[in-house]
Amino acid sequence: MEVHTEIKKRVFNFGDRSADGNATMRNLLGGKGANLAEMSRIGVPVPPGFTITTEVCTEYNQVGMDATIRLIREEVETSVKNIGKIMKAEFGSDDHPLLLSVRSGARVSMPGMMDTVLNLGLNDRSVESLARLTQNDRFAWDSYRRFVQMYGGVVMGMKPRSKEEIDPFEEIMEEIKQDRGIELDTDFTTDDLRLLVRRFKEAIKSRTGKTLPEDPWEQLWGAVMAVFNSWNGDRAVYYRTMHGYPANWGTAVNVQAMVFGNMGANSGTGVCFTRDAGTGENVFNGEYLMNAQGEDVVAGVRTPQQITKLGSERWAVLAQIPEAERRSKYPSLEEIMPVVYQELFEYQRMLETHYRNMQDMEFTIQNGKLWILQTRNGKRTGAAMVKIAMDMLREGLIGEQEAILRIEPIKLDELLHPVFDTKAIKKARVIAQGLPASPGAATGQIVFHSDEVGKFKNAILVRLETSPEDLEGMHLANGILTARGGMTSHAAVVARGMGKCCISGAGALKINYRTRTLTIDGREYHEGDWISLNGSTGNIFEGKVATREPELTGEFAQLMKLSDRYRTLRIRTNADTPADALAARNFGAQGIGLTRTEHMFFEVDRIKAMREMILAATTKGRRRALEVLLPMQRSDFEGIFEAMDGHPVTIRLLDPPLHEFVPHQLTTQKELAEDLHISLEAVKSKVAELAEFNPMLGHRGCRLGITYPEITEMQTRAILEAALHVKSRGITVKPEIMVPLVGTLEEFSSQRDVIRETAEQVFREYKDRVDFKIGTMIEVPRAALIADKIAGEAEFFSFGTNDLTQMTYGYSRDDAGKFLPIYLEKGILKADPFETIDQKGVGTLMRIGVGRGREIKPGLKIGICGEHGGDPASVEFCNSLGMDYVSCSPFRVPIARIAAAQAAIKKQAGNS
Ligand code: ADP
Ligand code: MG
Ligand code: MG
Repeated sequence: MEVHTEIKKRVFNFGDRSADGNATMRNLLGGKGANLAEMSRIGVPVPPGFTITTEVCTEYNQVGMDATIRLIREEVETSVKNIGKIMKAEFGSDDHPLLLSVRSGARVSMPGMMDTVLNLGLNDRSVESLARLTQNDRFAWDSYRRFVQMYGGVVMGMKPRSKEEIDPFEEIMEEIKQDRGIELDTDFTTDDLRLLVRRFKEAIKSRTGKTLPEDPWEQLWGAVMAVFNSWNGDRAVYYRTMHGYPANWGTAVNVQAMVFGNMGANSGTGVCFTRDAGTGENVFNGEYLMNAQGEDVVAGVRTPQQITKLGSERWAVLAQIPEAERRSKYPSLEEIMPVVYQELFEYQRMLETHYRNMQDMEFTIQNGKLWILQTRNGKRTGAAMVKIAMDMLREGLIGEQEAILRIEPIKLDELLHPVFDTKAIKKARVIAQGLPASPGAATGQIVFHSDEVGKFKNAILVRLETSPEDLEGMHLANGILTARGGMTSHAAVVARGMGKCCISGAGALKINYRTRTLTIDGREYHEGDWISLNGSTGNIFEGKVATREPELTGEFAQLMKLSDRYRTLRIRTNADTPADALAARNFGAQGIGLTRTEHMFFEVDRIKAMREMILAATTKGRRRALEVLLPMQRSDFEGIFEAMDGHPVTIRLLDPPLHEFVPHQLTTQKELAEDLHISLEAVKSKVAELAEFNPMLGHRGCRLGITYPEITEMQTRAILEAALHVKSRGITVKPEIMVPLVGTLEEFSSQRDVIRETAEQVFREYKDRVDFKIGTMIEVPRAALIADKIAGEAEFFSFGTNDLTQMTYGYSRDDAGKFLPIYLEKGILKADPFETIDQKGVGTLMRIGVGRGREIKPGLKIGICGEHGGDPASVEFCNSLGMDYVSCSPFRVPIARIAAAQAAIKKQAGNS
């Protein structure tokens, strides 16, 4: 019998129009590796190489370096030989050296989060051969200089040690530039570059005590391990935590033959997008630099040139320069290398059609030959996401369901943020202009250091350029402004991914980090000064510019309409005021799922009457105060009914503990005492009497209505009188009165009786009636368990998932801030259960509640009204339980609409 020993494949080759892997293997090969393999298969010119799998990264974290090398040495050596054969060179040879790039690549793209080393394999001997073979001394030494710099930084830890310190290698380069009186890296002579290599090596030796390895194999293993280590570096960990990517995903390592963009005037490198990542417009665009390598474009060292003329505002700035001057100073790639440009244009078409999605690509031109180094689905703003999906649908590239599934619901949030008010923007003073790197309107106070963004509630982060270290600050800032860098700079790409307003490359800005000042045309701005950014035009304004609410128009409106055809779940909103109700209607809300009546009591003139009611010693006193409140509540309800124009409106009876309404400060207590003509002592003792040990589990919800039925009577009266008033104006009203915090059937029926009796009284007085429903919240776990009993008497259920979560976990929502963040960090909880429904625990109670309720009343109307109503995963869960609706805050309505459509599509796909 034959014995099969399963040998695990850890290294996957690509190049020469074939590959071991393909695009579907991103979990194993990482996104970059999978796409390099795919491109190679479909005939895109990719330098040959291989991918070490993400599983090896996990193995490395368990067994360490030496054991990992033993696991993969043989496969790696064979693959490296293979590359050498294709490239007609040999790794480790002094005479015909093969040079490699070592690149990270996780299954999701994490731009700039992990490390890359280029030109690996160079040493003091092979650099001479490279010079001889290419007959280009300068190129060889420039490559060596870059290698020492990258290897020193990535593998040997030569990084700035504090935020005041600049990169140790940059410092040496600056010093030599000053010495020579030159400005750009490209101005270095070969001798300068030789000197740089020597000085870099000395710096490494003196800081780390180690010498840079001369042996190419030692270099290679060092770089591979450094890439594995970068998965656990601070930047990557922060990024992973922010996006919820688990640590065990690991990163793959891509080792690939080098191609050179720094070989002279006929070489270059760039980044391009098949469509506009900011607006979504279907225009090929990007940036390039001649005689440059890799990171030069992204790092913002030199400001890159545009690949092609765009119809957009970006080119409009250049178009203002006289044509002859523009052509010589800012030539497009299309102008200077028309043949290569045409080739690039065709590959980008081919890749977009192949992936059926907007691509973000990296390319390098070596002596007039084009190589593609990377492609991936491009990060984009919320606006671009919507436009691209709808355009691709129109173009027939994708179908309706796919267009809907392409939407990341949460990213729609960007489109729902305020935009600059048209009038205000006309009056505002433009102080400078930069590139419209990421659209949006941002106003805030200037901050120069990322770790200080938290100083201001509204901050604008102002930097020369950004690096991955700035990620956290960028996340917290309202907007980002950089003096350097183009449309594909780190700042621009990351900002678009975050949907954050960003202006890059505003050359007029003189920034001084030390004095924390920003100078524009001689005018000085300091930390804390207000500025405003229009990320769609690149205009920078002095001071605060007023904003207004956005509207649902154009492609966004079309997308919403399309998703409405697929969803079965109805979307309601949580609204306490007519203004909120109207905003929600404009976003497509089909009713109100929750009106919290208590918010109405906090307004100045009302809180007095409310306090009087609470402090009343007798039922009679309470009734007198309630009579003052009645017309106020009634007019609020009228406004809401009118705004909802025939859609159902669920109103919850008074819910919070009364203690929340009484004054806690001595001065306000005194005022109240005077107003009510009672003693300060009486006020104080009532406040003390109302204090509870566990207010959340105390005297609140229907417990209030049961102890003080006159409150329920007044609220019922206010609701139904308002309904009758609005009805008399010819508007349909559908009130639904909701009893909170029910845990027993008797609680519900006792309140229901009060409501019914009051209703009949009101109808008799008005000699008219309206249809209305009486239902309950399901938010006490016991209510879910006895849902069959309650359903016998209630006309609808609404899951209050905030309280239900609180009581199921036993976590007080108001105190959870002390431990929830730590729970999340330690992985004790995978997600915050107050943000996304805990499907296992709380979800089981919901399933029981829905099941038992419908067992008794098959058509029972059921929805949810917690914060979860706007969370896409929770919406999907509610859809799977067969609920009728979810209710969320007004600005979440569009998000819930698309999430509900996605849920319906996925459910259908799962069933068929
Ligand atoms: P990141 O994921 O941060 O973009 P990459 O691995 O893509 O890192 O590489 C960084 C830079 O190095 C990119 O600009 C890329 O184009 C360049 N680069 C990577 N591999 C090669 C190669 N084989 N030849 C030339 N340039 C390369
Ligand atoms: Mg890249
Ligand atoms: Mg509640």
